Amino acid sequence: MVGRDYDAIIVGASFAGLAVARRLTGRVLLLDRNEVGAVQTSACGTPLWVPQALGVADSVLQVHDKLTVRAPTRTVTYDLSEVPFCTFDYRRFCSGLLDQTQARFLRASVTGMEDGAVLTSEGRFTAPVIVDCSGWRGTLVNDGAPAAPSRGHFSFGLETRTALEDEGKPALERFLRDRGAVATTYHGTYFPHRLFRPTVGRIFAVGDAAGQCLPLTAEGIRPALYFGVECGRIVQQIFDGRLGIAEGLDQYRSLVDRYRRAYRILRLAQWAAEHVPTYWFGALTELAGRHPMLARWWPRYGWFGRFDPDPATAA
Ligand SMILES: Cc1cc2nc3c(=O)[nH]c(=O)nc-3n(C[C@H](O)[C@H](O)[C@H](O)COP(=O)(O)OP(=O)(O)OC[C@H]3O[C@@H](n4cnc5c(N)ncnc54)[C@H](O)[C@@H]3O)c2cc1C
Repeated sequence: MVGRDYDAIIVGASFAGLAVARRLTGRVLLLDRNEVGAVQTSACGTPLWVPQALGVADSVLQVHDKLTVRAPTRTVTYDLSEVPFCTFDYRRFCSGLLDQTQARFLRASVTGMEDGAVLTSEGRFTAPVIVDCSGWRGTLVNDGAPAAPSRGHFSFGLETRTALEDEGKPALERFLRDRGAVATTYHGTYFPHRLFRPTVGRIFAVGDAAGQCLPLTAEGIRPALYFGVECGRIVQQIFDGRLGIAEGLDQYRSLVDRYRRAYRILRLAQWAAEHVPTYWFGALTELAGRHPMLARWWPRYGWFGRFDPDPATAA
């Protein structure tokens, strides 16, 4: 029998966790081992419409209507003006979303579950609805034994900040050296490139914990937010008594399943990037950036996962 300290417990207060929490009006506990927005792992690049739709447009740092891909044999610049991208300030973005939630935030490290309770460094907590948004390690869905990155389901991203204007470690160093740029600090981590199970038992998984980062482009913010918003909508219906938990889990699984084909196509493109001879991959990259090709795929990709702006928060 599951106890009820809260209506829902969300583990992880980054993109996925905050997107779920902001949709909920019940008694919600939001847990993270770090302060919200304190530890940035990504480059924080996403389509401009994303922070605008979520009411956090004040976090935007730069708007980009061009993307330059530097392949060994050629450099290709894509015109993104139809769906411009932006980079944003992680702390401001996350604290803006936190301000929109009614959840109780508690800084605590989660170690797993026991007898239906979530175990944390601050004690045990119970709730009928549990959402794992703890990133690639999937703390709860993997039952406290974090995902092993060696299983071939993960990529690794490495970044540095440098004075370079428009743009595995040895490759990054070579890339910087060729351009006469000096790295400052490095940061990076794993991210998944295939969908995992969106539910495990009665646990909903969202974002990297469910493998929702897009293959090829490594865009994981937008899917974490999109599936988070949708998961939150379903959980709110459970709170309102309009759905049972089992029905809610079913509905969320079906939603994610609808995207499996799109993920498979991107995974195939990622495979091609690794295995097709460099010359041919460079040629394909260039072709994809030309008209009319670009106009066929870029808007479709750029609007992927579009969520309706909330009337109260949209900029
Ligand atoms: C180098 C790099 C660059 C990237 N650049 C981009 C980019 O520009 N654009 C883009 O769209 N995507 C990018 N990504 C991918 C993107 O960062 C992830 O897909 C995205 O962060 C997933 O969001 P999430 O909320 O699921 O998980 P995360 O952002 O990883 O958040 C997980 C949260 O859970 C907390 N947590 C984890 N374990 C526990 C625990 N045991 N107890 C309590 N709390 C816990 C963490 O502290 C964290 O706050 C990049 C990834 C890397 C590695």
